[in-house]
Amino acid sequence: RPLIELRGITRRYANGTTALAGVDLVIGPGERVAVVGRSGSGKSTLLNVLGLLDAPDEGEVLIDGHPVEAAQDRVRAEWRSSELGFVFQRSHLIPALSVRENVLLGLRYSNASLDDADQVVTGSLRAVGLEHKEQALARTLSGGEMQRVAIARTLARPARLWLADEPTGNLDSAQSLEIIEELKRRAAERGAALVVVTHEPDVAARLDRVVTLRDGLVVADSAHATTPAHG
Ligand code: ADP
Ligand code: ADP
Repeated sequence: RPLIELRGITRRYANGTTALAGVDLVIGPGERVAVVGRSGSGKSTLLNVLGLLDAPDEGEVLIDGHPVEAAQDRVRAEWRSSELGFVFQRSHLIPALSVRENVLLGLRYSNASLDDADQVVTGSLRAVGLEHKEQALARTLSGGEMQRVAIARTLARPARLWLADEPTGNLDSAQSLEIIEELKRRAAERGAALVVVTHEPDVAARLDRVVTLRDGLVVADSAHATTPAHG
């Protein structure tokens, strides 16, 4: 059974922009997917819909086969906190807190057990190569370091679906590939699915499946490869 399924999703903004124009997408447990496409093609909107942060105007989102719209608020909140983990482009660390505290906060807002929180946080910081910075205040970090802390915060959460919007946007390409490999490794360990919006072909190539958006539509999906049309 799919972990999450989008059926005929349309999203129009108040100004009339159609960001998604009828998207069908099925993501299975543990799948690792890149979402690519030009700026404005609908990638961030798609990620927000997958993350239950944005409600579609038309269509249906199903989690484990259950329509999200029909679920009670409590159940939706539960899905968001227990099943989903985000890495945003702007990582929203709390500047006055230490690296360690920022990662720990991510755990508090999930329903993870806090018994082994210290170990989980340490493991996550090690995974992104920042264990030596755990006492540094977030505001003293470079952009790339902040991004890695945001990734560590997500890694610490016991989610079944990790959603990342340009998670490696501030990193050089060697670092980007390292981080993607780490996300993949961690996702595999937990059986979590991973959806990564990226404009870096090298990053997309490291994921198992590539979904291409254009003008709010899925125009290619390597999971359903077809012979490219001519012209
Ligand atoms: P940035 O390109 O600076 O990252 P964001 O995507 O964070 O901008 O958007 C900033 C705010 O503007 C958000 O509230 C977002 O929903 C909104 N926004 C983004 N694109 C548009 C647009 N084309 N028209 C109107 N609002 C937009
Ligand atoms: P991408 O992530 O591929 O750049 P987005 O999902 O951010 O694409 O945007 C898809 C389209 O919707 C773009 O035309 C963008 O300008 C528009 N858009 C995004 N957010 C808003 C918003 N809050 N209000 C109005 N238009 C928006």
